[in-house]
Amino acid sequence: MGRIAYVNGRFVPHGQAVVHIEDRGYQLADAVYEVWALFGGRLADAQGHFARLERSLGELRIAMPMSRAALTLLLKETVRRNRVVEGLIYLQVSRGVARRDHAFPATPVRPAVVMTVSAVDRVASEARAAKGVGVVTTPENRWGRCDIKTVGLLANALAKQKAREAGAAEAWFVDDLGLVTEGASSNAWIVDGEGRLRTRDTNANILRGVTRTSLIEVIRREGLDLDERPFTPAEATAAREAFITGAGTLVLPVVAVDGKPVGDGRPGPVATKLRRLYIEQARATAI
Ligand code: PLP
Repeated sequence: MGRIAYVNGRFVPHGQAVVHIEDRGYQLADAVYEVWALFGGRLADAQGHFARLERSLGELRIAMPMSRAALTLLLKETVRRNRVVEGLIYLQVSRGVARRDHAFPATPVRPAVVMTVSAVDRVASEARAAKGVGVVTTPENRWGRCDIKTVGLLANALAKQKAREAGAAEAWFVDDLGLVTEGASSNAWIVDGEGRLRTRDTNANILRGVTRTSLIEVIRREGLDLDERPFTPAEATAAREAFITGAGTLVLPVVAVDGKPVGDGRPGPVATKLRRLYIEQARATAI
């Protein structure tokens, strides 16, 4: 059975799913998106992603295309039609279609909505997590509103390509002060020498990851120490452990930064346990 996409009110075969050439998302990156992990065909961290979607849209003054309840039904229907049980669902909302002009259309247009689903091989993902991944660092060169989840991802795409060419899985952006901001599509974490979990605070120019927020709940429940404070790449390689979080990677151990091993170069016990606990919580609360 082929993949099915949702495009502006219709379910269409993936290969025939198209948007207008003057969709502002296509021409100006005037669009936001969300990605939910799917566990057992259900949406993980559903409300956290909806809350961030509403915030991103609000910051850009794009109207919610429909209610949360209606969006939930459509997302679930798209998942069902794709018969995907373990995977990801992608939702994109652009300001809509209008004659090309940088400023917003004088007469508001309807936001354009697209949904696509992809399957994830959880066995392969677990094998990858058991091995851990490498990251590379790259100078922070993104705009100043990385808190908004827009499709303006060119700097992220170039960083990810740099990682791939170096045989790494992710790129960590490093700001002018030498501090890691976040990954190209994930938040960055370490377990420092005292066993404290450390990740950048969200007052910085980063995306407030929904996985990050849910993992903080797990960390608090486990009574672990958390320090929302940035770290340097050197602190990461001197740390006991490092990992990344995101809807795509969940909690994924990082075993090398720019080719230098983190800890003993293998996934550590804290990241491994947090991955398991996060997945248990996400599966149990998915809708
Ligand atoms: N940071 C960036 C730049 C991202 O693109 C993402 C996810 O795509 C994340 C962090 C992690 O966010 P979440 O946990 O909500 O997937």
